[in-house]
Amino acid sequence: MSAFQKETVLSVRHWTDSLFSFTATRDPGFRFQNGQFAMIGLEVEGKPLMRAYSMASANHEEELEFFSIKVEDGPLTSRLQKIREGDIILVGRKATGTLITGNLIPGKRLLLLSTGTGLAPFASLIKDPDVYENYETIVLAHGCRQISELAYGEHLVDGLRNHEFFGPLIRDKLVYYPTVTREPFRNRGRITDLITSNQMFDDIAQSGLDIATDRIMLCGSPAMLEELHAMFSARGFAEGNHSQPGHFVIEKAFVER
Ligand SMILES: Cc1cc2nc3c(=O)[nH]c(=O)nc-3n(C[C@H](O)[C@H](O)[C@H](O)COP(=O)(O)OP(=O)(O)OC[C@H]3O[C@@H](n4cnc5c(N)ncnc54)[C@H](O)[C@@H]3O)c2cc1C
Repeated sequence: MSAFQKETVLSVRHWTDSLFSFTATRDPGFRFQNGQFAMIGLEVEGKPLMRAYSMASANHEEELEFFSIKVEDGPLTSRLQKIREGDIILVGRKATGTLITGNLIPGKRLLLLSTGTGLAPFASLIKDPDVYENYETIVLAHGCRQISELAYGEHLVDGLRNHEFFGPLIRDKLVYYPTVTREPFRNRGRITDLITSNQMFDDIAQSGLDIATDRIMLCGSPAMLEELHAMFSARGFAEGNHSQPGHFVIEKAFVER
């Protein structure tokens, strides 16, 4: 049995010159936990060209969804950005990753902090009914350079707010906090600064960081992760993993090559 399953692209949507999302068929045997990633890719010259991708769809959904960057000259994404409905993609059979609720000790407020395509695992998690069962409040923060780069997240949250099942469930629980660094916008600045300065909590009219109640998931650029890791650790928050749940968990949105 090949390590990769062939799946058919069902839809593709381009959000900006550098961001797109797509849906694909899902093998019924492909199981994952919300927040995890898998290897996905294309067959190029007879060989699989694979990269890590977070599932942006939830594990109760029939189709798979991914939210992707377009890297100029990127081996995979220079090709992947050209996929169309009916094309075949490869999806690894095994899902993994640290951004799962089981890696966190119980808490009351869940902070999902992302930059760029780091939003993808949280797109999956905010569609998980158990997350709303286990936390009183979920704050989804998404930082980008430009307003246009927020579009996928805005569309996602709007869709959930208007959803027959999720709408009532998330109305009082999900707080969406988009922010940009390079243009005027209602929330402005880097996520790291907005957390460190308490500005984000002031903006959403909530109390500041509290180790007794806050549990945190981070997914973003290596620089953002490094800064926030240092900041949370300095405040006594412990990093969680599969063997030892903690106050926060981290996943890289990409690796610098
Ligand atoms: C755990 C994990 C989960 C990931 N999930 C996603 C995902 O859901 N969506 C997604 O688009 N990518 C994701 N990535 C990144 C992905 O694996 C590839 O790097 C990306 O698809 C580009 O592939 P490439 O072959 O075109 O270029 P690569 O050779 O892989 O990357 C070239 C360069 O592009 C930059 N880059 C790569 N990916 C990104 C990105 N997402 N955002 C900003 N800059 C980037 C980096 O500087 C990198 O050095 C994830 C990576 C990891 C480690």
